[in-house]
Amino acid sequence: MTALPPNAVIGILGGGQLGRMSALAAARLGYACHVYAPEPDSPGMQVAAHRTVAAYEDREALARFAASVAVVTFEFENVPAAALEALAGLVPCRPGLAALATCQDRVAEKAFLGRIGVPVAPWRAIESEAELQAAVAELGLPAVLKTTRLGYDGRGQAVLRAPEDLAPAFARLAPRPLVLEAFVPFAAEISAIAARGADGAVVVFDPAENRHAHHILDLSFAPARLPAAAADAARVHVAAVAEGLDLVGVVALEMFLLPDGTLLGNEIAPRPHNSGHWTMDACAASQFEQHIRAVVGLPLADPARHHDAVMRNLIGPEGMEAWPRLVATRGVVPHLYGKASARPGRKIGHATRLLPMGSLAGLTDAEALKGL
Ligand code: AMP
Repeated sequence: MTALPPNAVIGILGGGQLGRMSALAAARLGYACHVYAPEPDSPGMQVAAHRTVAAYEDREALARFAASVAVVTFEFENVPAAALEALAGLVPCRPGLAALATCQDRVAEKAFLGRIGVPVAPWRAIESEAELQAAVAELGLPAVLKTTRLGYDGRGQAVLRAPEDLAPAFARLAPRPLVLEAFVPFAAEISAIAARGADGAVVVFDPAENRHAHHILDLSFAPARLPAAAADAARVHVAAVAEGLDLVGVVALEMFLLPDGTLLGNEIAPRPHNSGHWTMDACAASQFEQHIRAVVGLPLADPARHHDAVMRNLIGPEGMEAWPRLVATRGVVPHLYGKASARPGRKIGHATRLLPMGSLAGLTDAEALKGL
């Protein structure tokens, strides 16, 4: 395909910070964005050239949106199926519907990872309490029971530690089917992000090591402090995901690192990912720029990092309290998303500490986090 010309309009479905940072990257490349979301004054809309405030079910608004843009992308993967179908008939969607569908459903996602040769923890689809009992008998305890759809940041899952945990967890979690996974005694959680262009070219950023607090990403260390073989495997796995999904855009693969150095795939996000925010400041072209390049048909940029980096998410009122200190700290690059209120547990911004190339591996956590 020939690339969209400068000033072409990119549609972004969803008004969150991922769309905001994509729109900012698009603007830098000379494109305009039209953000479509139900919430007025969302982080994405604040920086967009054009906005539609409408429900994802509003077919007329979707048709007008489609007619006003050259291509549509998504800043979240749980786009209602009806909205996707309405758009797909009217305008090119990147990534395409099939890629989104695979990532909307944990069963489809795990089956896909298995098919392309990315190992995953043993798992079973669960329709009934009897199936849960049988699956626990096979996989053992502890285990993790998850909804197949609409789970994020730890919502929609329960750790089962004892036989009496099964019935209440099964009763609480919906919609079904659910997925039961063996509990993974991981040494670390890592993620890798790939971009795949409209021409099929793939570039991969350095894998990052991620730490969560209260089920929400707290810190990303880039590059992940990994054995070289595991870092290579992470790159190969995420590139296989991008190719296997026939994706145009950016995709993140979250993985567990086992104590013996093997990696298990956990979750795919077919979009820019929180664990790649460090690329905004430590690479010449961020994950958002790579995403926009892919979506408009430009060649992908060099994914090499020019600094090591540690990213801290700013969450809720505590994040807001840290803000004045972070903007005053040299070597820290602060980002705020323009959310109307800093509600507890919500991501309101992030800050990235830049470190000299190659220095992170020799630092303790306390040293790496200085100033963050
Ligand atoms: P997820 O929504 O699948 O990304 O899971 C959220 C978090 O829960 C992960 O980042 C892990 O910290 C933890 N977790 C999820 N699945 C498992 C598992 N099978 N074993 C151990 N921890 C898990």
